[in-house]
Amino acid sequence: MKALIDRIQKDGKCYPGGILKVDKFINHQMDPNLMKDIAVEFIRRFANTKVNKIITIEASGIAPAIMMGFLMNLPVVFAKKKKPNTLDNMLATKVTSFTKQRDYDVVISRDYLTPDDHVIFIDDFLAYGNAAKGIIDLCNQSGATLEGMGFIIEKAFQDGGQYLREHGVRVESLAIIESLDNCEIKIKNA
Ligand code: 5GP
Repeated sequence: MKALIDRIQKDGKCYPGGILKVDKFINHQMDPNLMKDIAVEFIRRFANTKVNKIITIEASGIAPAIMMGFLMNLPVVFAKKKKPNTLDNMLATKVTSFTKQRDYDVVISRDYLTPDDHVIFIDDFLAYGNAAKGIIDLCNQSGATLEGMGFIIEKAFQDGGQYLREHGVRVESLAIIESLDNCEIKIKNA
């Protein structure tokens, strides 16, 4: 997606450990116009997919997911990263955080992810795929059908994308980072 690639080249910052900071337009300050264009592009790519719900994970997936849900007139559910006091009616899984280097619980209510659901999962980044694997687990537990996963930015030099595609998941990434070596941002098709 050209506008996104241009923006990463203009405002993205590379940090040690293979981390790309996009705090100026996605992860801290947000650009609603770009976010709308991102949602439109996801909708175009998943145009032939029958879905009734968008799912995401807090916090940074919520903005693109809500834009998509708004434009498609579909509900948006975000998986929560904190165990509530009661696990009644909750599906739970554990996810390793790439940026924080620790495990956390991710929960979603059985009321909002059911065997009737056909969902697309949306998130800001795909790195090692740990968040995505957690969502797959929650979909499996609930009986929901995962129709595909959309990421704003995929880091191809970490192996989440390869894992997901090898396991038959439809993955759509709007910008693919090939390398951050020597703090140079190399983007596919840039
Ligand atoms: P994964 O679960 O695929 O290993 O990592 C994805 C999650 O970690 C994303 O939801 C995102 O919050 C965070 N993340 C992974 N890599 C980066 C990165 O390079 N920059 C930022 N800002 N977040 C990242």
